[in-house]
Amino acid sequence: MLGRLRLAAAIAVLLLVPAELKAQSGVTPAELRAHNAEFRRDLIRVADGVWIAVGYAASNVILIQGSSGVIIVDTSPNPTEAAAIKAAFATVARGPVQAIIYTHSHPDDIGGTTIFAGKDRPQIIAGFAEAKAPIGRPNQDGADQFGMKVPDALYINAGTQLEFGRNVPPTSAGYLALNRVVTKRAEMTIAGVRLEVIPTPGEAGDSVSVWLPDKRVIASGDDVLKTFPNIAPIRGAPMRPPEQWIASLDTILSLKPAILLPGHMRPVIGADEVRNIVVAYRDAIRSINDQTIAGMKRGERPDTLVRKVKLPPALAANPWLRQYYGTVEWMVRGIYAAQLGWFDGNATNIFPLSVDERAADLLALIGGRAGAIAAGQKAIRDGKYRWAAELADLVLVANGSDAEARRLKAQALTELGKREGNAIARNWYLSVAQFLNDGDSTPR
Ligand SMILES: [Zn+2]
Repeated sequence: MLGRLRLAAAIAVLLLVPAELKAQSGVTPAELRAHNAEFRRDLIRVADGVWIAVGYAASNVILIQGSSGVIIVDTSPNPTEAAAIKAAFATVARGPVQAIIYTHSHPDDIGGTTIFAGKDRPQIIAGFAEAKAPIGRPNQDGADQFGMKVPDALYINAGTQLEFGRNVPPTSAGYLALNRVVTKRAEMTIAGVRLEVIPTPGEAGDSVSVWLPDKRVIASGDDVLKTFPNIAPIRGAPMRPPEQWIASLDTILSLKPAILLPGHMRPVIGADEVRNIVVAYRDAIRSINDQTIAGMKRGERPDTLVRKVKLPPALAANPWLRQYYGTVEWMVRGIYAAQLGWFDGNATNIFPLSVDERAADLLALIGGRAGAIAAGQKAIRDGKYRWAAELADLVLVANGSDAEARRLKAQALTELGKREGNAIARNWYLSVAQFLNDGDSTPR
């Protein structure tokens, strides 16, 4: 009887634990830390004449040795890290660099080109004509999601890389523009190596994969990474259409590759292993997309959908689909916004109250500024950190420099960040907490 009472008490306590005491992504900080093993520095020979440099930089660089020189796939984020990779390649590479292929236009993959090109004048091939600079928020929020300024003691990694921009500030100094744009599947022979450049839009709309049919090797850029994909980036970028991404994964599967070289993390060796991973990745994207669209057809709103749409348990537990970087919740919101627009269908929100009006009226209800701060501090004590941040915001809307409200929000975000194992959310929470503590006046 006593045992049963104890069990009931334990269940009651479990039910009372606020959601914030767990990571919203389902990934614990310990799990994210274990993920660091993916980024250990290694020059790996994956096939005869094919090497991949993992962990030297924020992204992988691939070397393909041909009879009359080499081909480089992706060039890392900056000349400094590229130089370390070039030095590692020097132990195995023979002859001039005849071509450089960018798998996509993200800055962490195209910034070290001048180093690899040297004086060799390689042709430069990609699926985009020019790398576009992001507009608006991405510069600031990109830094936040990568945790560029998060203190070492709280920093773990950036989800798809150990770090980006913490050691070497982001720069485009090493970028070289293309001289060949590939918009449809193209066969070519470079330095005596037969290869195909195949458009595979996914993590970027301009992604291409590099396929070596004779070695059954595919360099798939960022379309298959060891994390749930970042379909709807929160850093201020358009959604990456799931249907396109699924089609690209089907293209990759149709080639029956035996070796998969991702743009980040470690290579996958073995046809069965590659197939299992790519199938799971595709099925996960399809499952979330299908569930979201089915819910939209039933008239459900985004806030309801994010509570309901889940990965099937086997996929949720798959190490390639843990939410280290992208999350299911953001994907659901991204699909909704892309397909049905910003409006959630609730008539109250046709012309929403301004944030100032809402804050002023709510503050009046809860005892003004002092009432909000007191309630926020209680929320922190109760472990309700998101609610504490909301209460702080009510004060900060009218006065962004209110020191107590800034401290309250910083404390709430620090508690959320410390518990979060999704790198983007964790880094963002902890970055903003730090800016609030430092007195930075940018609205965040
Ligand atoms: Zn990348």
